[in-house]
Amino acid sequence: MEKLTIVGRDEHPQKAPVDPESLVHRQLLGGDFWRKIPAYRDIDEATWLDHRWQSKHTIVKPDKLLDVVQELVTPGFIADAREGFHRAPMSLRVSPYLLSLIDWANAYEDPLRRQFIPLGSVLRPDHPKLDLDSLHEQADAPVPGLTHRYPDKALFLALDTCPVYCRFCTRSYAVGVDTDQVEKVSLKPTVDRWERAFEYIASRPELEDIVISGGDSYNLRAEHITTIGNRLLDLPNVRRMRFATKGPAVMPQKILTDDPWFAALAGVVERGRKLHKEVVLHTHFNHPTELTEITQRAMNRLFEAGVTVRNQSVLQRGVNDAPETMRLLIKRMSYLNVHAYYVYVHDLVKGVEDLRTTVGTAIELEKQVRGLTAGFNTPTFVVDAPGGGGKRDCHSFEHYNPETGISVYRSPNVNEAAFYCYFDPIDLLSAAGQQRWADPAEHELMLAEAIAAARARQR
Ligand SMILES: *Cc1c(COP(=O)(O)O)cnc(C)c1O
Ligand code: SF4
Repeated sequence: MEKLTIVGRDEHPQKAPVDPESLVHRQLLGGDFWRKIPAYRDIDEATWLDHRWQSKHTIVKPDKLLDVVQELVTPGFIADAREGFHRAPMSLRVSPYLLSLIDWANAYEDPLRRQFIPLGSVLRPDHPKLDLDSLHEQADAPVPGLTHRYPDKALFLALDTCPVYCRFCTRSYAVGVDTDQVEKVSLKPTVDRWERAFEYIASRPELEDIVISGGDSYNLRAEHITTIGNRLLDLPNVRRMRFATKGPAVMPQKILTDDPWFAALAGVVERGRKLHKEVVLHTHFNHPTELTEITQRAMNRLFEAGVTVRNQSVLQRGVNDAPETMRLLIKRMSYLNVHAYYVYVHDLVKGVEDLRTTVGTAIELEKQVRGLTAGFNTPTFVVDAPGGGGKRDCHSFEHYNPETGISVYRSPNVNEAAFYCYFDPIDLLSAAGQQRWADPAEHELMLAEAIAAARARQR
């Protein structure tokens, strides 16, 4: 009798154990790796782990940065970075820890360099559909620094500073100091402004979930963590809170040595637990190199204190858009008890077209990572729809035309009737697509075509 086979499926041989050496996600950078940077050659471990030392030696002046790496890079690179700084909308801020993780021998290609240090030679014109607050966070703010877009959750921007400044920052309209290119909206950490936000949250019984972000919770003083945490925990309607911070990815030392800050966070988490309310930490690793043995110790300390950590990555070209990189990132985070929650398709942000990639890339990557590990460690790939549509699963578009790079999403919980469009970067489109964008008269036409196609699908 003929054997029935399912097309495309092989017999499943028994799995052989893998070579432990191949489990590279467990091979974390350790030892005194920072000593290869001439400026840190004499820094001992205790000093390197001291968060005050890391903060004090964080670099904010382009000249200082170029000084530190001068012996490690070519004069051409220095000139290129100088031009990049001049044209960048984001201020510079790089921790010694981050600086020591960059492979300066390959400075052009290095995934961490790409995220923090702009180069004039790779800058591309912004997409014509870009505006500075593309997420409409300010338009959706009932009080300054509080965005209430979704029915039951709100985003509280407590302050406008961070331990480092990322080139790709969505909030480059507010975060950091003014640059040659952008004058920022001010979101100072003032108790007055915060009180207006708390009063608004108290006045909205439907609000159950508060994201405390900025800027970055790392830059909140310990007593501010306690004040904000307790004030929100005291509101009967608030059931869930997350402190958002890039910190663990750029200065894990703080978790290990800033005892008052750690105790404040652990205290709010603990008090929340007693009140049956969830308080967690959301962080922002983008590349597997950002997780070292120091990160492991920091994550272990959080885990022991019962603090859940989730991660939100930003998908960036040349940083984490290759399947093997994303797999390694997810596996390494899982190994350190960090849940991969979201991967954001890069927002439309000024001055970083070289970092954006396409919705098509995100869809393919998702396919490549799902099934790799536990479902709860597998991120959802989302587009934060420009115009205030909020996060949408990148697969859920009503229409996507890879030629024009326009995708159209609906977001019924935000606005039943609206269509929200996202735009792939033009330099990754086909020649035909690029040609259409080169002609301003085509822009509205392309948009109208996309919306019409989305509408047609609804009927
Ligand atoms: C991302 C975000 C939230 C939280 O959304 P989740 O999908 O629950 O992570 C809340 N408010 C705003 C405005 C946001 O951008
Ligand atoms: S840490 Fe977050 S808020 Fe701060 S610059 Fe980076 S992306 Fe922006």
